[in-house]
Amino acid sequence: MTSGESPESLSAPEPVSTNVFIAGGGMVGMTLGIALADAGLEVVVADAESPEAAVAPAFDGRASAIAYASYRLLERIGVWQYLESETQPIEEIRVSDGASRLFLHFDQAELGEGPLGYMAENRHIRAALFARAEGLDGLTFLAPEKVVEVARDGARARARLAGGGTVRSALVAAADGRMSRMRQAAGIRTTAWRYDQAGIVATIAHELPHCSIAHERFLPPGPFAILPLTGNRSSLVWTTDVDLAPTIMALTEAGFAAEVAKRVGGFLGQTEIVGPRFSYPLGLHVSERYTADRLALIGDAAHGIHPIAGQGLNLGFRDVAALVEVLADAHRLGQDLGQSTVLDRYARWRRTDNLVLAAVTDGLNRLFSNDFPPLRLARDIGLGMVNKLPPARRFFMRHARGTVGKLPKLLRGEAV
Ligand SMILES: Cc1cc2nc3c(=O)[nH]c(=O)nc-3n(C[C@H](O)[C@H](O)[C@H](O)COP(=O)(O)OP(=O)(O)OC[C@H]3O[C@@H](n4cnc5c(N)ncnc54)[C@H](O)[C@@H]3O)c2cc1C
Repeated sequence: MTSGESPESLSAPEPVSTNVFIAGGGMVGMTLGIALADAGLEVVVADAESPEAAVAPAFDGRASAIAYASYRLLERIGVWQYLESETQPIEEIRVSDGASRLFLHFDQAELGEGPLGYMAENRHIRAALFARAEGLDGLTFLAPEKVVEVARDGARARARLAGGGTVRSALVAAADGRMSRMRQAAGIRTTAWRYDQAGIVATIAHELPHCSIAHERFLPPGPFAILPLTGNRSSLVWTTDVDLAPTIMALTEAGFAAEVAKRVGGFLGQTEIVGPRFSYPLGLHVSERYTADRLALIGDAAHGIHPIAGQGLNLGFRDVAALVEVLADAHRLGQDLGQSTVLDRYARWRRTDNLVLAAVTDGLNRLFSNDFPPLRLARDIGLGMVNKLPPARRFFMRHARGTVGKLPKLLRGEAV
């Protein structure tokens, strides 16, 4: 990797040329950069944040559920070895409607195919990506370096950077997140709405072990998730009414700890809040197109979903695996990486999968985030039936593991 600290070549008047320029080096953009470089392509990644800031505990308090198929991708591209010691396997998932009534129980032992997934704090995922990028030929990482604009005409795209440099490439991958400037500048519209909910995220340390079990409780304002981390710690996602979130965020430490303890219940023994709390407004957006001339949208730049199923980042990883396969194939054949036939293959592969999950998570959130008695009865009957049917349980577990559908090679753990 070429370090972002000494981008002499880029501040020079001569533009740098590369195969793919990635605007945004968050978890999805960095993964794409690493996977492309690992496949033998030349890549430049630019991110507005410095790596030091991006791994600081105060930057992002979230932890992510990494589906089993996403684990295979990270393993295959050499990231997992830097992350493994910070990951917690998820062996079981317990879903309840309300605080106590158990309705669904998924146990990986029933499948016998390995964990359902792994939990890892986002700061550790970012640190592992930076560590892997460090030794990688073909990858230039520029940070902090903001992308000011991208011109996409003629035979190459040209990205102009705030530091004065220019990067020419056959393709620009926009991985610049939910509010993607690249998407807006390309005139790609989104269908989007906000939920009247915020996700409050905090980490707790607890007296008793979590036994590798993830808990999802459907409470009237939204799901309350208790997700196992390494040691006797868990990550909480407390979905609440968006108007109430500022009040919860303003609670004293003792007040917040008491509210959390009430919702967690006593099964983990004494609990203590460790680290800061965070509040994220929740919404959904889907882009009407994933590609334009010499441009491909990826991760949250292309789509954003409710975190009810912990799948947003996993969808981004699936985009990465598909785009890398498409581009590696085109590269081998000597095709122009930015041509529409290449990009169409990526868009066709990913759009339906992403749309289906956006619809499913939206439906689940609407079905469960209320206390309307007839709906409650209907969903409890539905959950009870799924829980009683082993084939249905296995179907949902395979979906949670991300091992169904037409998987790109990297998600099968194979080289591209
Ligand atoms: C409460 C909550 C819990 C979640 N839990 C899970 C979970 O358990 N599992 C899961 O799979 N997903 C989860 N998600 C979703 C997941 O966090 C996101 O889908 C994921 O972070 C998206 O990553 P990204 O890299 O696409 O975008 P981002 O993380 O937004 O990264 C975008 C990057 O682009 C950079 N950037 C932006 N503009 C520019 C510019 N002009 N120039 C240079 N750089 C720029 C930014 O600095 C940033 O680093 C959760 C989301 C929420 C809100």
